[in-house]
Formats: sequence, structure tokens, C-alpha cells
Amino acid sequence: MREFGTTVFAEMTAMAVRTGSINLGQGFPDEDGPAAMLARAVEAIHGGFNQYPPGPGVSELRQAVADHQKLRYGLAYDPDGEILVTVGATEAITAAVLALCEPGSEVIVFEPYYDSYPAAIAMAGAVRRAVPLRVDGGRFAFDPAELAAAVTPRTRAILVNSPHNPTGTVFTPAEMAAIAALCREHDLIAITDEVYEHLTFDGVPHVPLATLPGMRERTVAVSSAGKTFSVTGWKTGWICAPAELISAVQTVKQFLTFTSAAPFQLAVAYALRHELEWVGALRETLQGKRDRLMAGLAAAGFEVLRPAGTYFVQTDIRPLGFADGLDLARRLPELAGVVAIPTQVFYDEPETGRHYVRFAFCKKDSVIDEAISRLARLG
Ligand code: PMP
Ligand code: GLN
Repeated sequence: MREFGTTVFAEMTAMAVRTGSINLGQGFPDEDGPAAMLARAVEAIHGGFNQYPPGPGVSELRQAVADHQKLRYGLAYDPDGEILVTVGATEAITAAVLALCEPGSEVIVFEPYYDSYPAAIAMAGAVRRAVPLRVDGGRFAFDPAELAAAVTPRTRAILVNSPHNPTGTVFTPAEMAAIAALCREHDLIAITDEVYEHLTFDGVPHVPLATLPGMRERTVAVSSAGKTFSVTGWKTGWICAPAELISAVQTVKQFLTFTSAAPFQLAVAYALRHELEWVGALRETLQGKRDRLMAGLAAAGFEVLRPAGTYFVQTDIRPLGFADGLDLARRLPELAGVVAIPTQVFYDEPETGRHYVRFAFCKKDSVIDEAISRLARLG
């Protein structure tokens, strides 16, 4: 694991703390989730719900996830056997890769990729095949021919993250259809990271890959409460998949963590049932913050790409006279008192992402405004 070192998020947040900079790097909201949900967690703790819950997860949460998938997407999962509660989406993805890939199996990822994917693939002794997302028509997109060319006889799975971190891309119906067709043709498993499923803008819907023809039976769908309910520190996630895939992943999960924190599961079950209106309001608010940060970054001289989802904006730094995003991100605290994330660290081939820097907008308007006024110094 030597090549993985310290994650860019830990490095950049430490830099923000050390230099007193505004942290638009690591993506975490600076306001709490719904009050009634927070109260449920406290009640659960005071109510003595503090010992090991069942390995697959507390039944209330498994049932709430099943109902959410059915009501929102028309996807039916049996809460007893087709749903597994995990320690965030991170454990879900790692356990899925460990469970379903043999050493030497190939896993396709889109780059820039979320940083835990290559690490999970390496831990499984599997091999990643990266398909680049490139800016095309104002958004990051892949070339379906390049995706198809990445499949080999050893390809076992494809990791699909939509809405996509760090680019903010939501794959179009045509892109999803191309991914699904490839999975069916080559009998691949799709591991879908849907942690931003509720955070899409401008009326763009989130369409789970499992809803496409022939996909439910080969999809391991992952989500988590962190982004949906603004509780990234709760590390409560889940997987929906056919029973035999869940059973394999659960076998791995038993020995990674055995089970997941008990009181948060009851609180998240409550939130999935009763707080989706709150999430709708969060989405509206975030869309306004996106527009606010995009306008400020554009005024500061960045070329700004409009994200359709997540809470991240990608910027091209070349109009400001900078060439290297990693170099700029490391100097940004000193130049402007702001921290951001260089996009190139999420590519196997850093050159493709060299000119891009990611800024998070899940922050109070006053924080965004202060960051914008500081970044105006760059021009
Ligand atoms: N996948 C993506 C794309 C993410 O941005 C994150 C961070 N929220 C995760 C997975 C990890 O989620 P969790 O904190 O639930 O483990
Ligand atoms: N998902 C968060 C981001 O992309 C970071 C999570 C982490 O620090 N590992 O900013």
C-alpha cells in the first residue's frame, strides 16, 4: 500500500487547519443534518441501543432502505438478504471489491476516480483499468469506444459513480445505457457508488444503473447517509444487491468490521422515512450555493464547469496563468488563504487532469463569499 500514502483530503484539510485557510477542499458540509434525525441518535444512545447490532444491519434500517429504493426508483429488494448495512460507502465499496474480485481480476474505473477505489482494488490484488473522463461540451464525459476497449477477458467489474466526484458529472441516459450494454455483453458486475443520489441540480434526475434492463441482477448498489443527510461523520452506508452477491460481501464485511455503529442506524432509518423533504430543501440550497461559487470563481478569473450533481465545482486554472493544479493547490493557502483539491491526483495519467482544481460549495454563504473575495486576489 506504500504508493497510497496519505489521502489528498487529509493532506489538504491539515493544510487548511495549519494555515487558517478557508477549506473548500475536503467535501463536508458546515451545517448539521435534520434536527429530529440527530435527536433520534441521541435517544438511541440514551435508550441503551449501544451493543453490537446484527451483522447485516438493524432491521429498521434495512427495511427503510428497501422502501426508499422501491418508492423512489421502483427497485424491489428483500430487506432480509438483499440489503447490507456498512460503515459508510467506503467500506461497502472495499468489501464488494474484496468479495467479488480475485487476484488479477481487472476492475474498470472512470478517472478522475474517488481515491478509495484504486486502494480497494489494490487490497484485493486486482488490477484497475482507468477510462478517462475528459472535458467535452462543458462537462466531463467518457468516450464509449474507449470504455469498450478497456474490457479484457479478465475484466470482472466496473465501478460507476454518478453523480460523479470529483467532476460533478451526472451520466446521461445514453452514457448509462452504454455502460449497461457493456456489462450485459461481457457479464460484468457493476458496483455503483450513488452517495450523491439526492444531490442533483437543474431537474436532472438520478437514475440508478440497476433500473436498466438486465442490470438489477448484476449490480451492487452502494449509498450512504453522509451526503444525503449532512452527517459525513456518521459513516453509515448500505448495499442493495441480489442475495448471492450480498452474501459474498457480508462474508468479507464480517471480518473487516463485523457490524456497523448501532445508534446511527436507527436515526438514518428515521431520516430515510421522514426527512426526504428536508433533503429536497438541501438540494435547492446547494444549487444556490453552486451558482454563487461558480459566479465568484468566474469573476476571479477561473474557467468554471457547471456540475449537474454533487457539491463540487471543477475549474480550469489556465485563464489565470497557472498550468499545474497540484502546484496551485499547494500554494493557494499562501496566495489566497483558501484550500482546494487538485484534480490530477485522481488520474493514473495526471496530465489529463493537470489544469483542473476542485472547489466544494457545501459551505455557509458567508464562507463562500469570503473565499471568493480572497480568490479575487489571484487575478
Ligand atoms: N464515494 C464518493 C464518491 C464520495 O464522495 C464519498 C465521500 N462521501 C464516499 C464514497 C465515501 O462515503 P462514506 O463517507 O459514506 O464512506
Ligand atoms: N468525499 C470527500 C471528498 O471528496 C472526502 C472524504 C474523505 O476525506 N475521505 O471531498
